[in-house]
Amino acid sequence: MIRLLTGFLLLLAPLPSWAQGRHEFTELHMGLAVRMVLHAPDTATARRAARAAYDRIAELEDVFSDYRSESEVRQLEDHPGEWTPASPELLEVLRTALLVAALTNGAFDPTAGPLTRLWRQARAENALPSDVALDSAHALVNWRHVHLNGLLSAVRLDRPDMRLDLGGIAKGYILGRALEVLRQQGTPSALIEAGGDIVLGDPPPGRPGWDVAVQGMEPGLLSNLAVATSGTTEQYLEIAGVRYAHIIDPRTGLGLTTSLLASVVGPDPALADALATALVVLGTQDPQRLLAGFPGYRASLLVPDQLEVTARSPRSQLRP
Ligand code: ADP
Ligand code: MG
Repeated sequence: MIRLLTGFLLLLAPLPSWAQGRHEFTELHMGLAVRMVLHAPDTATARRAARAAYDRIAELEDVFSDYRSESEVRQLEDHPGEWTPASPELLEVLRTALLVAALTNGAFDPTAGPLTRLWRQARAENALPSDVALDSAHALVNWRHVHLNGLLSAVRLDRPDMRLDLGGIAKGYILGRALEVLRQQGTPSALIEAGGDIVLGDPPPGRPGWDVAVQGMEPGLLSNLAVATSGTTEQYLEIAGVRYAHIIDPRTGLGLTTSLLASVVGPDPALADALATALVVLGTQDPQRLLAGFPGYRASLLVPDQLEVTARSPRSQLRP
């Protein structure tokens, strides 16, 4: 009788955690391997969910890509001085980017495009840009010349030849949106990772969180959070012993010559991504001050071979 009863109860109970198999996928997007780990009752559900999430990533690449001439970002630049209709996604990313620009006094600047292009070309040619080229690119960089109109769903760039570069924020945003798709598809226990950025959904079934190691932070199980890492140590141009990184300082126009890695953990993947880039530009000076404006975010700064600086916003609510 007892056995019968427990059998009946088992049937009524939700699918036990061991029945939610772990499925892993990798596809190339944004020039990176995008890895998804998700828990689903069967392979067909997992495949369907991953397909929908990857399709969403491809769709968003058409909005943000710096490399595709037909991307929405590129189209905006063709109409300087005019209110140009923009998708809700582009408006949302620009809103966050401008907020971080304002709070970092332009250390993070989504209009850094003319400079990032110049430095990209310099890396390809293995030669420093000329002073003239640097000056004219520098003169075009100013986040205050971007205006958003939520009512019109439109964006206006004040000056001709301005170039947006959302490379420091779009990856986080896109991964976050892909995670939302996995949730809508009924697979909320998921992780997506690309190029050092990670977004985490609900914990794996039966577990308190995802075991993700973040440099400079105490080990812990994390869920429903994003982890963004940014640094100057991987992509750079080296001339006469000086390394100029792919992250540029909009105040000087030069590729950063500091050696620094920043990681940010927080609820909004786009914001975490932008804050990580911003912290690298700001350097070791008081990361706490920037984080104070963003409750629920933690950061660690690592100067390779040197001290570690960690910061936490005052009302941090890291889970679990
Ligand atoms: P990664 O792309 O290596 O993950 P980041 O998130 O830090 O690292 O993004 C770096 C990208 O951000 C650069 O490739 C460039 O597109 C853009 N960028 C560079 N400097 C700045 C800056 N000062 N403000 C905003 N975006 C920047
Ligand atoms: Mg970033």
